[in-house]
Amino acid sequence: MSKILIVEDEESIAELEKDYLELSGFEVEIETDGSRGLERALGEDFDLFILDLMLPGTDGFEICRQIRAGKNTPILLVSAKKDDIDKIRGLGLGADDYVTKPFSPSELVARVKAHLARYERLIGSGAPQNEVIEIRGLKIDKTARRVWVNGEEKNFTTKEFDLLTFLAQNPNHVFTKDELFREIWDMESVGDIATVTVHIKKIREKIEYNTAKPQYIETIWGVGYRFKV
Ligand code: CA
Repeated sequence: MSKILIVEDEESIAELEKDYLELSGFEVEIETDGSRGLERALGEDFDLFILDLMLPGTDGFEICRQIRAGKNTPILLVSAKKDDIDKIRGLGLGADDYVTKPFSPSELVARVKAHLARYERLIGSGAPQNEVIEIRGLKIDKTARRVWVNGEEKNFTTKEFDLLTFLAQNPNHVFTKDELFREIWDMESVGDIATVTVHIKKIREKIEYNTAKPQYIETIWGVGYRFKV
C-alpha cells in the first residue's frame, strides 16, 4: 500500500485530504509542523509527499528542496496563493505538481494516483538509476549533474563539473594538466593549461573544508593532480 505524508498546518484541510486518500486505499500520515514534517520526510519511507507551502517551523519550499536533494519521491505542493505557482516554477525546486487552495479533493486524489503510477513505472521499468559517486562527504550525481558537500548542494559550471567528475571517477590516478585539459576541453592543449589550475582552484573552494589542505583533489607538484580516496 502506498504511504503518503501530508504536511499541512490547517488540520481541517489535512483531515479532508486524508479522508479522500484513505478512501482510495492509501495509507496517510499527517504532520502539522514543517520542521517535524521535514524530519519524517527525510528519515522515513514514503511514496509521495503533499506539502503545504506556508507552515510553522520549516516552510514547504525548504522541505521540498531538502527532499529533492536526496530522493526522487513525487512531491505535490499545495498553495493558498496563485502567485506562488510562479515562485515554485522559478525556484526549480523539483516539485512534480502543485495545486492551489481551494481544490477539489477528488482532483487531488486523481493527481496523487497519476504521480504514483508514473513513479512506479519509472522504478519498476528498470529505468537506470541516477549514476552517483559518493566519496566521504562528497556526492556527485552524474545523471542530474548535481553536487553535494556534506548534504549541501553546490553549484558548478559545466567544465568544473566535468573536471571534478573525471577526477573522481579515476581516483588515485595522477593526471597532468595537459591530460586534464585535453580530456575536459576536448581539443588539443595549446598550452592554456592555466585554465585547469583556475578550475581546480574554483572546485576546491566549493568542496574543500580547507583549501590549503585539500582532502579530495591533491596537487602532485611538478606533475598534476589526483583525486584521493
Ligand atoms: Ca499553511
